[in-house]
Amino acid sequence: MIRNKAFSNLKLLFIVSIILFFGTLLYAREEGKPLVLQEMTWPDVGDYLKTSDMVIIPIGSTEQHGPHMPLGTDYYEAMGMSKLISARTGVVVAPVLLAGYSEYHSGFPGTLSLKPETMEQVLFETAEMLMKYGFRRFMFFNYHGGNNIVQQKIIHRINHTTEAIAVAIGHGSPIQKGRYQEKDEVGDDHAGIGETSLMLYLKPELVKMERAEKSKATYNKKLEELWMLSQQYPDLLMVFHSLRGVPVETKKGGASHELYSNGIWSFSDPKKATKERGEKQVKGMADYAVKFIEAWKKVKK
Ligand SMILES: [Zn+2]
Repeated sequence: MIRNKAFSNLKLLFIVSIILFFGTLLYAREEGKPLVLQEMTWPDVGDYLKTSDMVIIPIGSTEQHGPHMPLGTDYYEAMGMSKLISARTGVVVAPVLLAGYSEYHSGFPGTLSLKPETMEQVLFETAEMLMKYGFRRFMFFNYHGGNNIVQQKIIHRINHTTEAIAVAIGHGSPIQKGRYQEKDEVGDDHAGIGETSLMLYLKPELVKMERAEKSKATYNKKLEELWMLSQQYPDLLMVFHSLRGVPVETKKGGASHELYSNGIWSFSDPKKATKERGEKQVKGMADYAVKFIEAWKKVKK
């Protein structure tokens, strides 16, 4: 009897372990998978809306990123990070645009650009469609500085003219506490060590490290004068920055190809980029967004 009981206990333990093992596997698979609107069916979206009204819209760009990185760098970054956030929170990602506002990079072939008002309109009409089905909480994950002005406008327009709520969770959002930077690094703004590291983590097959090299900065007299004076009068940096990153037609000397020889906006060496550094930055940004989303979920639909 005792032996029999021990045997049946063992059998029960075995069955329970099997259930737990496969249960964990299933749960892990579900949890680790991002939800992308274009990969879902309409019944999937219908089911999703029964439990959530949240959506993440990534915004990036198609613009030059130095001689070593693809034009779609910002798109892959915004999309890659949005997908990671989706996998951890279960919130749907709805990519709409491949291009952003990048007019000032057009001295390098292949760069695409939409006017800020065009972008705003496309994003607003997309949001209106999503609202029809019941989406009410919009999160924009931007990863291109040039889009920040559009991001602010679209968020304001949604918040002030519709029933929905919109916030920023990527670049330009107050929840992001600054990017990862080493002490000795200055002005690593675009396609430099930081961004190359990001891509080595997110899309390494598209990075041509053998072509990565430091760029030469070539500021015109006005920019040089402003830079020198801003060392004494730091408020002048505001003027300096308003002249950088503007289309060549403005004649301010602030277009990408007028400022940097190969399109990399950085004084550091992109060859020093590492996948580990990229991972730190990506996970850091995703963590801030996930923490925010989990808090927002506490507010009922
Ligand atoms: Zn970029």
